[in-house]
Amino acid sequence: MDFSKYDFVILFDALQDKTDDRGSGGAHGGGSDSRSVITVIAEKNKPKDIFDETTRNTLTHELGHYRGVTDVYQYIIEAEDNPVSHEKFDTYKCIMNWAAAGEWCDYAVNCMNLAGDAKRIGIEFPDFFNSLYPKSMEFDITVGGKPERGVMIELYPSRAGASDHPRDIYPVALVSGKTNSDGKWILSDFKNYIVPNKDKHPEINIPPSLSYGRCFGFLAKVSYGTSVKYKWMSEIDIQMVTFEGKDSYIVNIDF
Ligand SMILES: [Zn+2]
Repeated sequence: MDFSKYDFVILFDALQDKTDDRGSGGAHGGGSDSRSVITVIAEKNKPKDIFDETTRNTLTHELGHYRGVTDVYQYIIEAEDNPVSHEKFDTYKCIMNWAAAGEWCDYAVNCMNLAGDAKRIGIEFPDFFNSLYPKSMEFDITVGGKPERGVMIELYPSRAGASDHPRDIYPVALVSGKTNSDGKWILSDFKNYIVPNKDKHPEINIPPSLSYGRCFGFLAKVSYGTSVKYKWMSEIDIQMVTFEGKDSYIVNIDF
């Protein structure tokens, strides 16, 4: 098959009848020249009805990837995989979270609207996903409404799953800092912390086995005296500020 003739191709493997067939499900992958290939594969020993609801849901999810949306389920962290605050983090109801959700979250809608009618996103928007990170990040910490100096903030990285660990919060902070006299702590080059770049920021602790080479956000631990507050900073929420026309992800916390 000559893939170069098409902007995107959908392949159905409707019967897993070989011993080396890969697992069932769907996938979107990059062809050459930013072309897209979507595959939808039957379960073992169960011929696929390509017109049924499950196939339609799978296909809708994979077409979401074709429109530039990432997997929203990658941001869910179970409580037992969060050694910092021991809470679960759940994410948005969205076809990119589970294919049968029946609706798109605002983030997905924004990505799809940005992609618009681009047949090959990679050509019309080089670096589509990375372009969604805001320039900077800012914590504004107040105590009783007044800016507080010297409040400690630690950013613990959220990792996508890998063969040696589930999706989790890594227990060593990637970076930490203290608020200045205006109660602010600012990272002016936020992208190079999310996609950790030790050449630019030698002080950071990059977690091992970091899937996709980036943090899927952070769990921030904010300590004022003996009081501690946590803030989930999922990559989706971080990138949402770009769609809102802002260039800084701002977190306000009052003790
Ligand atoms: Zn997916």
